[in-house]
Amino acid sequence: MRIFDPHIHMTSRTTDDYERMHAAGVRAVVEPAFWLGQPRTNVGSFTDYFDALVGWERFRAAQFGITHHCTIALNPKEANDPRCVGVLDVLERYLGKDGVVAVGEIGFDSMGEAEEEAFRRQLALAVEFALPAMVHTPHRDKEGGTARTLELVEESGIDPGMVVVDHLNELTVGPVDERGCWMGFSIYPDTKMDPQRMVRILQDRGTERVLVNSAADWGRSDPLLTRVTADAMLAAGFSDDDVDTVMWRNPVEFFGQSGRLLLDGESDGADLRSPATFEGNSVLRGEPVA
Ligand SMILES: [Zn+2]
Repeated sequence: MRIFDPHIHMTSRTTDDYERMHAAGVRAVVEPAFWLGQPRTNVGSFTDYFDALVGWERFRAAQFGITHHCTIALNPKEANDPRCVGVLDVLERYLGKDGVVAVGEIGFDSMGEAEEEAFRRQLALAVEFALPAMVHTPHRDKEGGTARTLELVEESGIDPGMVVVDHLNELTVGPVDERGCWMGFSIYPDTKMDPQRMVRILQDRGTERVLVNSAADWGRSDPLLTRVTADAMLAAGFSDDDVDTVMWRNPVEFFGQSGRLLLDGESDGADLRSPATFEGNSVLRGEPVA
């Protein structure tokens, strides 16, 4: 079984996690840019983080046979902090880089005006750079947040097929499906969406335009819940081909729209040591750090 986790924050995970993920079948990931747990106080904090996502974390993943991609954005939480908003002016520097496969996470957290402004600007960047957009939906007032999200997506003129609306549940999936956006589901250890509920949604709606992720970060989360969900699909009578669609081919299709996936054919992450990946990064090239 091959698994592509389309939303996982590896920066906050250990090498043990990389080993366990590889053993469970995970061969590719997308790491969306998000907050640091504690508030950032300046734009430089973002650029150091973005540099780590496009360089160091990709190298770290490659040590464990996992192909790492990322998405770049001002996240919804920090869109409310005037010290952070300036990062919107430097995003273009990153959106053209190899392995940057979407603009994200963008969207709503507490649904304030500043969040909406950052959301609009970044949807426009996705259109400008012909990149997919990864949209976070709020954990409070999820239905209202999802409805407003879909309005802004429509206003932006972005092709709905270039948008994944994430952290969905049984109540919010319908309108996202109707709009033609991709449907993202984050599987959590004990709250919100779990593997059995995910299987029921797949039984109801089928496997088309569905992405399943672990959304693992520093909080209580489990990077192997993609595999647990795949096993639950098989136990419920889905075929190996269905599992491969959800766990591999769907994320490849969605993020492949960026033209920037780093997968090598059927993918084993084998291409990761190509010179292009290491270009301009002395740490990745194994040179001593001055
Ligand atoms: Zn996330």
